[in-house]
Amino acid sequence: MKTKLSVLALTSLLMSSAFAQIINKEFANGNIERVHRGKNQIILTFDDGPTPGVTEKVLSVLKANQVKGTFFIVAQNAKRHPEIMNKIKAEGHLIGNHSMSHPKLGSLGFFSWKKVVKEEVLDAHEIIFPYMQPGQRFYFRAPHASWDSKISKYLNKTDVGAKYIGPVLWDIGGDMEVEGDHYSKTADWACWSKKLTVDECLEGYLRETDEVKGGVILMHDLVSKSAEMLAKLIPELKLRGYTFATLEDAQFE
Ligand SMILES: [Zn+2]
Repeated sequence: MKTKLSVLALTSLLMSSAFAQIINKEFANGNIERVHRGKNQIILTFDDGPTPGVTEKVLSVLKANQVKGTFFIVAQNAKRHPEIMNKIKAEGHLIGNHSMSHPKLGSLGFFSWKKVVKEEVLDAHEIIFPYMQPGQRFYFRAPHASWDSKISKYLNKTDVGAKYIGPVLWDIGGDMEVEGDHYSKTADWACWSKKLTVDECLEGYLRETDEVKGGVILMHDLVSKSAEMLAKLIPELKLRGYTFATLEDAQFE
C-alpha cells in the first residue's frame, strides 16, 4: 500500500510539473529583464526571422556546435517560410512569439489597441504554435521592447495569453557602447549597419558576456554576418568555461 501511494504521489507530481510549465504563467506588467545573468550559462535567442538564406546558416552553426537556441519568430515571416519553421522544429530548437508584424505595441491607438494586440499576439500564436516543441513554455518578446501594462492585463484574461511568459528581454546584445579604444557592448543589427567587422562585433558580445557572467544573448537571424559571428562566438564561449542552456532552464518567478 505504501509503495502504491508513493508511486501515485510521484505520478501526480510529475504530471503537475509538466502542466505547471504551461499553465501557471502570465504576462508581466513590464519587460522581464536580467533573465539569467551571473550563472556562467548562455541562452541563445534569435529574433525577427525566419529569413531564407540566413536562418538555415544559424541552424547549421547551432547543429555543428550541438547547441539549442530559441527563435523569436515574426509570424508573418513564418507564414511565408513553413519549410524553415519545420527545420527549426526538427532540429530541436524552441519557438518564441515575436508578434505578427513587428509593431510597437506600447504606442497603439486608443480605439484600436485591443484588436491589434489580439492580431499581433494571439493570432501570431496560432500560426507559430504547430512549430513549437511539444510541452514547451510559451514565450513572447515585444518588438522594439515596446510594451504597456494594460496589454498584460488584457492578454491575461484570454486562455492563451494567460499561459505566456513575457515580454522577455535579454542580458547581452541589446546595446552598443564604446569604452576607450574598444566596444564594451555590441548589438548585431547595429554592428552591421555601422559596418563593423564580424570580429569587432564579436568582441563586444564577449566583453559584455564576461561582464555579466552569462545570460540570455540577443541576436537576429536577419543578416548572414550574424551566423558568421555565431560560428566564432560559441566555441570561444565554451573555451571561456560557459555552458549552454535554453529558456526552459531560466526561472521566471
Ligand atoms: Zn525584433
